[in-house]
Amino acid sequence: MSDSDTIAAISTSLGNSGINIVRISGDDTFGIIGKIFKRGKSKSDFNIEDIDSHTIHYGYIEYNGNCVDEVMVSVFKKPNSYTRDDVAEINCHGGSFIAKKILEIILKLGGRLAEPGEFSKRAFLSGRIDLSQAEAVMNLISSKSEYSLKSSMSQMRGDLSAKIKDIRDRLLHDVAYIESALDDPEHYDLTGYNSELEVDIRQCLCVIDKLIDSFSYGRVIKEGIDTVIVGKPNAGKSSLMNNFLNEDRAIVTEIPGTTRDVIEYTVNIGDININLIDTAGIHETEDKIEKIGIEKTLKYLSEAQLILYVIDVSESLTERDIELYKRISSIPHIVLLNKIDREISKDFDSSLFEGSVCIYYSTFNKTGYSELINSIKNMFLNNEIDIENEIYITSMRHFELLRKAKESLTNVLNEIDNDLSEDMLTIDIMDTYEYLGMIIGETVDEDLFDRIFSEFCTGK
Ligand code: GDP
Repeated sequence: MSDSDTIAAISTSLGNSGINIVRISGDDTFGIIGKIFKRGKSKSDFNIEDIDSHTIHYGYIEYNGNCVDEVMVSVFKKPNSYTRDDVAEINCHGGSFIAKKILEIILKLGGRLAEPGEFSKRAFLSGRIDLSQAEAVMNLISSKSEYSLKSSMSQMRGDLSAKIKDIRDRLLHDVAYIESALDDPEHYDLTGYNSELEVDIRQCLCVIDKLIDSFSYGRVIKEGIDTVIVGKPNAGKSSLMNNFLNEDRAIVTEIPGTTRDVIEYTVNIGDININLIDTAGIHETEDKIEKIGIEKTLKYLSEAQLILYVIDVSESLTERDIELYKRISSIPHIVLLNKIDREISKDFDSSLFEGSVCIYYSTFNKTGYSELINSIKNMFLNNEIDIENEIYITSMRHFELLRKAKESLTNVLNEIDNDLSEDMLTIDIMDTYEYLGMIIGETVDEDLFDRIFSEFCTGK
């Protein structure tokens, strides 16, 4: 398997769509296209020498004397393509049959089925994009909210890479100076250099710190807010769920791997999403709680980023309401005083919830719904997101590497404080350089990027 063997895959998803795209990349791309593509109504031969890059051509796919489909073929000549190899994209008719048939023909003629993400992997290996940009491509594809889309676009444009490269350049410059001075003390002077270095390191730390801090927002931007609705039976949890689902486009995902698979509904609430974990089966009845185990409910609660606690105000509070409230009060939560359209029970005492965000609510007429959405946004975004101008770290991998980079740069500051020798400092500076290099893929081993690209979709 060489890096320029010719790979092919269907790049579109195989539903009942108008068109599908079969993508080919590698040395024999145009050789294969030449064998199966007839141009125009006159079905003339495809001759790559007569064709400019970045052009699209009408014609037919023919194989063994049979016309397979009427298509448009886009041509990207190397090195001006996504992979920097020759690339062609066959726009064929939709439905899975035609695209699969064309792909099969390409494979018969010497193409190899691309692995997931292999086109992007080639773009990375050829230096067209770095690793963080490649990861952004995947994030862009899986974006489910406006903010997530914008932050992926920024990362794909290379905004994060530029910041990382800038810090790495500065660190490399520092190390180069120290090493030159150690080798050639006559021409390079280290007197007073430590204070200059300290300023530089502090500035780099400042940028790294800001990126690390952005992750708390970045996670929300990328993943949405994991939200669990709790409350005693009949408080109105399912009705609240329906309020969300009826209001917005919801994406339903089954989450396997738990004893009972749960369903997650991703609901767009403006620029971000909330992921409502449907634990309906778990908190249905007290009996069931006993049966399935209180730990299970607690597990969902402990993993939640937000709890919506539904209380029925037409009834007095029970021991169980109070008990549940105690359990959730250390997790970010909002108390929904539900059924406000009814008469509030004389025994209902809302003072228990002092200190929590409380919203008077009715699932019947959605009283309080906008207040609820605004409260969630305030809690998680705090009006501080500046998606157009700031960089938000959305990847756990980047976050971990930035934390390691911070740790080794902090060591450098301590070493300066303790007057340790310059060659000690360079070790930690170079560690930082390496960690940051892993973010953009300059210092990662093949296993890691194979793992990263294997999570991509086929054809990307
Ligand atoms: P769950 O057991 O917590 O999921 O509660 P449901 O959502 O199934 O609601 C229980 C009952 O309360 C149903 O009969 C609902 O119609 C009713 N209910 C839910 N929310 C409201 C509300 O805001 N006002 C009134 N009056 N009834 C509600």
